[in-house]
Amino acid sequence: MSAQALVIAPREDPWEMALRQFNEAADYLPLKRGIHDYLALPKRELTVNFPVKMDDGSVSLFTGHRVHHNTVLGPTKGGIRYHPDVTLNEVRALAMWMTWKCAVVGLPYGGAKGGVAVDPKSLSRDELEHLTRRYATEISIMMSPEGDIPAPDVGTTPQVMAWIMDTYSMHRGYSTPSVVTGKPVEIGGSFGRVEATGRGVMLSVREAAKLISLPLSDATVVVQGYGNVGTVAAELLHELGCRIIAVSDSRGGIHNPKGLHPGEVLKHKQATGSVVGFPGSGRVTNAALLELPCDVLLPSAFEGQITGENAPRLKTKLIVEGANGPITPDADAVLAERRTPVIPDILANAGGVIVSYFEWVQGLQQFFWTEEEVNQNLERILVRAFHKVWQTAEEYKVRLRVGALIRAITRVADALYIRGIYP
Ligand code: GLU
Repeated sequence: MSAQALVIAPREDPWEMALRQFNEAADYLPLKRGIHDYLALPKRELTVNFPVKMDDGSVSLFTGHRVHHNTVLGPTKGGIRYHPDVTLNEVRALAMWMTWKCAVVGLPYGGAKGGVAVDPKSLSRDELEHLTRRYATEISIMMSPEGDIPAPDVGTTPQVMAWIMDTYSMHRGYSTPSVVTGKPVEIGGSFGRVEATGRGVMLSVREAAKLISLPLSDATVVVQGYGNVGTVAAELLHELGCRIIAVSDSRGGIHNPKGLHPGEVLKHKQATGSVVGFPGSGRVTNAALLELPCDVLLPSAFEGQITGENAPRLKTKLIVEGANGPITPDADAVLAERRTPVIPDILANAGGVIVSYFEWVQGLQQFFWTEEEVNQNLERILVRAFHKVWQTAEEYKVRLRVGALIRAITRVADALYIRGIYP
């Protein structure tokens, strides 16, 4: 990929989305041309095609990736996604967003991401373990506690992290817990990690609501994506007095204007595989759910859900991005014109990587914290970053996403200028 590839075609490809966002924010900064291009391009990329022995004795081939976007601030950090639609361009975008996410909240990390094009629900537990161990081995040249530390993302779990940690440790000859985060607590995971992303989303809603004078008691909330992020955010907002009126997963959505009980909906999903069919709720499609009138909208599923086409029809007072990249640049422009505040992904969902950082630090020191300490430190870091981003956006008179990116890009660029270009 050359610097020419930085020219943006009008397609909603995640990598093009990430570049458009980067270019818009970078235009406010006095970056030299070469530094601009260096920050835009991924540092290194690995694609692996690998075989997995299936339960019936056949062999299936899978394709995976690991991309390190930037290593200026420290080792790279970022999750691993298992989803049939994973592509190199998606992983590139997610890796770049990790660089800005870590930078904007002040973590000593660069950004990375990994992914395998697979539907994990179509595999048996043994097949999932074999796939994970083989993928971990294939990307082990890119991964280490000092160099690149994976974590869960869409379609991966603490158990998947445990298999990666075990595989890496077997090759090293000793236990190496800090090679991944998001592990089960029993093998060196951190209290509060599973809930951390959703907790950060709740904190973002809470801080934004104060600033836009939106009372949260009985505020109506719509959640697209009832996975790890959406469920926890819904439960914590419910505790703050919000009314969760609609939620969805890959099979569709449910709606009840009087309010859904988030814990009961989760139990229903665990028992039946979906939120759909929850007693007392009406059905709504994933697309229609986004357009329901509400106070707070939490797109917490996938990229590219809110586009230039549907953005004019949204009826919400605040959007907080639980997912990475759910709003396209065209939709961002529409929402800005309509003065709908958007708390951007790199800030709103940074709770996960913040507590991943705590898990990594605890593992390296072999000194573990209480859940209360984890949650307090998460709140301190996220709330501080939130208000700094808000101030920057006001100072530059730009959207919050641009404000967040200005802060993040500045932090990485400053470190790069100080370190210098080798040789
Ligand atoms: N996959 C998560 C994210 O997108 C967490 C990454 C991490 O903890 O390293 O932020």
